[in-house]
Amino acid sequence: MSVFQKLIENASNIVVLTGAGMSTESGIPDFRSDAGVWQDEALVHAMSDSYLRRFPQAFWPKFKQVFMRPEYLRAEPNAGHRALAALERMGKQVAVFTQNVDGLHQLAGSTTVFELHGSVRKAECPACMQSYGLDDILAQEVPTCRWENAKGGECRAVLHPDTVLFGQQVRHLERAILAAARCDLFLVLGTSLMVDPVAELPNYARAAGVPIAVVNLEETYIDGHAEVVIRGKIGEVLPQVFPVF
Ligand code: NAD
Repeated sequence: MSVFQKLIENASNIVVLTGAGMSTESGIPDFRSDAGVWQDEALVHAMSDSYLRRFPQAFWPKFKQVFMRPEYLRAEPNAGHRALAALERMGKQVAVFTQNVDGLHQLAGSTTVFELHGSVRKAECPACMQSYGLDDILAQEVPTCRWENAKGGECRAVLHPDTVLFGQQVRHLERAILAAARCDLFLVLGTSLMVDPVAELPNYARAAGVPIAVVNLEETYIDGHAEVVIRGKIGEVLPQVFPVF
């Protein structure tokens, strides 16, 4: 039995931190290989809370260009996502904290998922707080609220995406810090750990003496403090460590 397998076997309360590398095998490029979009400074500037508030009509086509390409929306969970869901069926308590906005962990069947950067699959009306799903977001180029008010008129405010934009706070951070320090295994999967404050989470596990396992194609700052570091594809590595069924 490998060290990784032994860590999994001995753990009952597992916290997982995932990043864009979790979904590359589903066909969604990570930050680095998708440099095209992220090197377009004007486009990146538009992915901010302040741009949305000032130019809501211009914001949405740009947001969809970055986050909602049809091929991303058609993406399906890969073997790595399914393996994490299978861990729960093995009787483990698994909390997934993800930086991804694609919703693939939930589609794979993971039940405890905290989306630190929100989701592209939801939006909300900033005026009346009505929630909308993906179909509604895609139905209009600039999605607006169709909630009927008491007088029979429509609200018509431009929706805000659930996705965390530049200038907004990361979600569930306090819960993630507590979970990292209290679990008995901390898994780091497919993240370069370069985006703060999420990048600090493995440090909370380390400070509490929690064993850390990393599966990532590239080196990360936490590797030197991890019990296990595997340079491989998540969708190939995880099903070898615990069976997907
Ligand atoms: P990142 O792109 O900075 O790092 C991804 C890491 O995953 C890299 O180190 C890469 O070597 C590794 N990797 C890629 N494919 C892998 C695989 N199959 N197996 C193992 N490792 C693999 O991503 P990040 O750290 O998550 O930070 C980027 C930011 O971009 C996040 O805030 C995230 O919200 C956002 N983002 C999200 C998505 C998504 O939702 N799928 C996609 C792109 C970017």
